[in-house]
Amino acid sequence: MWDFATDPEFQTELDWIDAFVREEVEPLDYVFETPYDLSDKAMVAATKPLMQRVKDRGLWACHLGPDLGGQGFGQLKLALMNELLGRSHFAPRVFGCQAPDSGNGEILAHYGTDEQKAKWLQPLLNGEIVSCFSMTEPQGGADPTQFRTTAIKDGDEWVINGYKWFSSNARYATFMIVQVVTDPNVSAYHGQSMFVVPANTPGVKILRNVAVGEPDAQGSHAHIHYDNVRVPADHLLGGPGQGFAIAQTRLGGGRIHHAMRTVAQVRKAFDMMCERALSRTTKGELLGAKQMTQEKVADSWVQIEMFRLLVLRTAWKIDKEKDYMKVRKDIAAVKVAMPDVYHDVVRRAMQLHGSMGVSNDLPFAGMMLGAMSLGLADGPSEVHKITIARQVLREYKAGDEIFPSGHIPTLRDRALVKLAEFIDHDMAEV
Ligand SMILES: Cc1cc2nc3c(=O)[nH]c(=O)nc-3n(C[C@H](O)[C@H](O)[C@H](O)COP(=O)(O)OP(=O)(O)OC[C@H]3O[C@@H](n4cnc5c(N)ncnc54)[C@H](O)[C@@H]3O)c2cc1C
Repeated sequence: MWDFATDPEFQTELDWIDAFVREEVEPLDYVFETPYDLSDKAMVAATKPLMQRVKDRGLWACHLGPDLGGQGFGQLKLALMNELLGRSHFAPRVFGCQAPDSGNGEILAHYGTDEQKAKWLQPLLNGEIVSCFSMTEPQGGADPTQFRTTAIKDGDEWVINGYKWFSSNARYATFMIVQVVTDPNVSAYHGQSMFVVPANTPGVKILRNVAVGEPDAQGSHAHIHYDNVRVPADHLLGGPGQGFAIAQTRLGGGRIHHAMRTVAQVRKAFDMMCERALSRTTKGELLGAKQMTQEKVADSWVQIEMFRLLVLRTAWKIDKEKDYMKVRKDIAAVKVAMPDVYHDVVRRAMQLHGSMGVSNDLPFAGMMLGAMSLGLADGPSEVHKITIARQVLREYKAGDEIFPSGHIPTLRDRALVKLAEFIDHDMAEV
């Protein structure tokens, strides 16, 4: 059954979210630096009552099951919700679902001990602390076989040594989830494990914070030296060698939420493009009357609609299959399409706004960098394209004849044999 309509009851919630984000949450974007810096007292004070309103409405941490204080929404509902949250950088915090805390929370919920859950998961779910996911290393992000950070068992402890790179929000985090090599003798996919490491553990040293777009002093992507960092044995999440399996589970739903938040940003750029087309006059007519502007509007609209439907269908498939691995190709396709659609629409909107478009007075420069970042963070597009191609080619087999299966003369010969009686009959009548 195909149905593109939203359940009216849920639509009421979406309408509430839409108005709440636009009117109450979005203003935070223009005043506060980042939703991750909980030492910013004014930001915390401003977000707290909004978080309470979301909790009162029953919309807090909807990605989590009811046992963890969430709503247990399926991916489709979460996708529609994230499409509205994506307008504001602060909305995921206000709704208790900001990355990477949402994914890290899921990992702790599945693999943490009761003590760890009490110590980190609960305050994370309450929005009282933030966390960091520390996997990429300076010498290789897209290729996990390059990772060199190790954890070696020493009695009741593990000792972690190595360097991580681009660990976002480490400077604000209370704990890191760190991916390390525990068995160099097996493949990267089976020899790496994940640990929870409290940020104040001796030996966790932030060497530098790299900035992406923001001023250098505010960079938040950390280069970290894990220098003889000792953690108790129970800080290993899951079992030894489960690092990649855990990372995959964490990323599946997260990518869909990210994609729908991107739809929101793209639409913001699109709305500005359309407003400009109807407001600016040049050479005696509105920009919107010029065919090259119309092409920009039309191409953008088509790209957004195609992308949005791809994301929603993928979310629907995840709900149906209940197994991220079965929807891997679709999730990778979403990841690949996301930076391109974002980039293309923002570039056109930027162009139509002239000099103001490239200035800091409008959001397009930041959006453009955001689009480029989306093509890298959580794996470059090239790597996800490889996943798609491999999955697609598995659905095909090699031809077993000299000519391809679409060779028209061969197909015609076969069709003539199959339809011989009719052809003879027609011929006889003629
Ligand atoms: C804004 C932002 C936030 C991030 N946050 C985090 C975080 O919180 N935690 C974390 O661990 N990491 C984080 N990352 C790092 C991110 O996961 C890596 O940047 C990503 O995996 C790519 O690794 P790399 O930067 O080392 O690029 P490389 O692996 O060096 O790749 C560089 C380029 O080489 C090409 N390439 C690579 N592999 C292939 C291939 N197989 N086939 C063809 N071409 C290829 C692509 O063009 C690719 O862009 C973040 C990155 C960004 C931009």
